Amino acid sequence: MTDTREPEERRIPSDLPGRIRHYIDGEFVDSADGDTFEVLDPVTNETYVRAASGKKADIDRAVSAARRAFTEGPWPRMLPRERSRVLHRIADIVESRDARLAELETFDTGLPITQALGQARRAAENFRFFADLIVAQADDAFKVPGRQMNYVNRKPIGVAGLITPWNTPFMLESWKLGPALATGNTVVLKPAEFTPLSASLWAGIFEEAGLPRGVFNLVNGLGEDAGDALVRHPHVPLISFTGESSTGQLIFANAAPFLKGLSMELGGKSPAVVFADADLGAAIDATIFGVFSLNGERCTAGSRILVERAVYDEFVERYAEQAKRVVVGYPHDPATEVGALVHPEHFAKVMSYVELGKSEGRLVAGGGRPAGFPDGNFVAPTVFADVKPDARIFQEEIFGPVVAITPFDTEEEALALANGVRYGLAAYVWTNDLKRAHNFSQSIEAGMVWLNSNNVRDLRTPFGGVKASGLGHEGGYRSIDFYTDQQAVHITLGPTPNPTFGKAPEHHIASSLDDPDPR
Ligand code: NAD
Repeated sequence: MTDTREPEERRIPSDLPGRIRHYIDGEFVDSADGDTFEVLDPVTNETYVRAASGKKADIDRAVSAARRAFTEGPWPRMLPRERSRVLHRIADIVESRDARLAELETFDTGLPITQALGQARRAAENFRFFADLIVAQADDAFKVPGRQMNYVNRKPIGVAGLITPWNTPFMLESWKLGPALATGNTVVLKPAEFTPLSASLWAGIFEEAGLPRGVFNLVNGLGEDAGDALVRHPHVPLISFTGESSTGQLIFANAAPFLKGLSMELGGKSPAVVFADADLGAAIDATIFGVFSLNGERCTAGSRILVERAVYDEFVERYAEQAKRVVVGYPHDPATEVGALVHPEHFAKVMSYVELGKSEGRLVAGGGRPAGFPDGNFVAPTVFADVKPDARIFQEEIFGPVVAITPFDTEEEALALANGVRYGLAAYVWTNDLKRAHNFSQSIEAGMVWLNSNNVRDLRTPFGGVKASGLGHEGGYRSIDFYTDQQAVHITLGPTPNPTFGKAPEHHIASSLDDPDPR
């Protein structure tokens, strides 16, 4: 059936909520003080809904509910297979609602609809992956024959505090919710205040899948209010945070008095290094996608491209031509490749780097608003060539559709340029020289390297950054480790190996020969 609605009506999802509320102990609730904040539509920058603005009182309430569900409820005590079934049902529901999720996510974030759809499916996959992983989970046992046996009890830790950013919000929430719940913890999620819409769907999905009451709690609000209260809550032993490096530093400091488990997935300024022997066409396609997909609001964006001098001019020319053809459009339009940035504040930040870049590099594509988009947070895919390594657009995370290209002459110089920033999240290396590819990857200061490839991730691999890009890794078993305590149980199989203090003299010689540590 043809959709006869006006384009603007098609853009705005039907049945938007009238208010976004918290979800605590199985109920949708307002903030204790009734406070709300505005949520903007990134295409018009008009307020389309208000969300409950959580403070300490709301976090206290959510943590109490999560704590009760942890200490008294069935979830942490259920068999892995039983929890796994619930997680698979969650994945099924997310998959069956992918179009609706994508529609809401696109509207709230400005991400292109085709990419939001991919992210919704990825969210389902995250739940499925951890549902499978916990039933296949084996724990270590260490044996000293005839003397001792040691084994590991893996236990959920308690209430996990999950703090997430606004880029691909639903998918990034699933990344934390999947392993935190799979391992038997209960959670309080504090989603980003720019994009609370899709997070409000979790409650219904979890209820339908049979997650017990109080296991999942959601508090909306500003970072400095709700986020901070979660970080400082004495009954939240774990904080998994994804966001800016500076926020991560602050959370580290604020959590320090409580000695919490912290997982920090932070910012990036990832290099894509293109050697002259690479398949240039593939490298150009991948590096265009690598920085302009998800509107450039991507932590692993290859936002610095380092190109060997022999192919530099050709690369820049072809890259700029292709970047000019990238389709900027309304987020809901399936033809759109770059949509609207999330929020006017972020748009202003990205635009300030675009202006700065004009004095720090040679502008070869974009450089401002795209034609035909006088309003909203639209930025033309922007390419600066000949960018020096001390330029701010080379050093700082812009988090928008803006890329810096820099030439190099030798492998050593390429490595120095790649490593010459404070971040170390991802790196992309393009070369057909096998030895160089592996040796260069080993030397790059990055948590993840892709060789002759775009950012395609196997969910079993570790995910995380080094330097200012993060501390700790999530992904696969690393996530299971973060959300569980590994208690070691030691059993004596032979004679009790005590060195004997204060024993009667006739036993003294024999007992002093006992070896307290048989290994
Ligand atoms: P942000 O740091 O501003 O906010 C992230 C979250 O932290 C939000 O929910 C916010 O409300 C909360 N917050 C802010 N101040 C807080 C405080 N004092 N205490 C507790 N919580 C607080 O980040 P953002 O702008 O939402 O997201 C973009 C950033 O996230 C970029 O730097 C990007 O690289 C990074 N990111 C990293 C990864 C990764 O896996 N490494 C993935 C996605 C995004």
